[in-house]
Amino acid sequence: MDWSAKRHEMVERQLRARGIRDERVLAAMAEIPREEFVPESQRASCYADEPAPIGYGQTISQPYMTALMAEGLELKGTETVLEVGAGCGYHTAVLGALAARVVSIELIPELAEMARSNLARTGRLGNVTVIVGDGSLGWPEEAPYDAISVEAAAVEAPPALLEQLRDPGRMVMPVGPDWDQELLVLCKAGGRITKRVAAYCRFVPLR
Ligand code: SAH
Repeated sequence: MDWSAKRHEMVERQLRARGIRDERVLAAMAEIPREEFVPESQRASCYADEPAPIGYGQTISQPYMTALMAEGLELKGTETVLEVGAGCGYHTAVLGALAARVVSIELIPELAEMARSNLARTGRLGNVTVIVGDGSLGWPEEAPYDAISVEAAAVEAPPALLEQLRDPGRMVMPVGPDWDQELLVLCKAGGRITKRVAAYCRFVPLR
């Protein structure tokens, strides 16, 4: 399988053609081997335009959703990012390529271990720490965060996360009931929070 060709085709057809403009996001996703992060049974179709199961009832997001969320954070390379929901570690690797440091919290220990081993094998654990825990409480030890990426949905943004977001800072998160969520980009500036809807989406629930 020519994975590099599949990756480039994904970037052109699913990301660039649909409006992803941040060249750093496009470059990161053209480089990170998604096939190394999914379970063996999902490898052949891992560049398809859809989410895929990663075990434990969880999913790896559709590539476009990962790109849209990463782009929403407007990362320049100097930031410390908090990620909630490492899953298989793919999105974590994308954030690691775009920021200076990533702290990722994952609730399911087996998935945290899968994320760690995938990140280590692909040489991407250098600026990333994967922690087992409840990400809705954030991780106060390294707060405040320049950016926060929440990859599971809740009916509202957890207050602990808004508190641990730096001012100025940006957070992306799917918000809404199971069947009807909005991907929100929240911007904190001057002590105030503004929101915009980047897309409609369907994520697994934040627990
Ligand atoms: N971002 C990953 C996985 C998304 S699935 C990817 O695209 O590959 C959402 C993940 O959030 C799952 O792994 C799930 O276990 C995790 N999760 C759900 N609730 C959580 C919580 N409260 N704290 C931390 N992780 C949580």
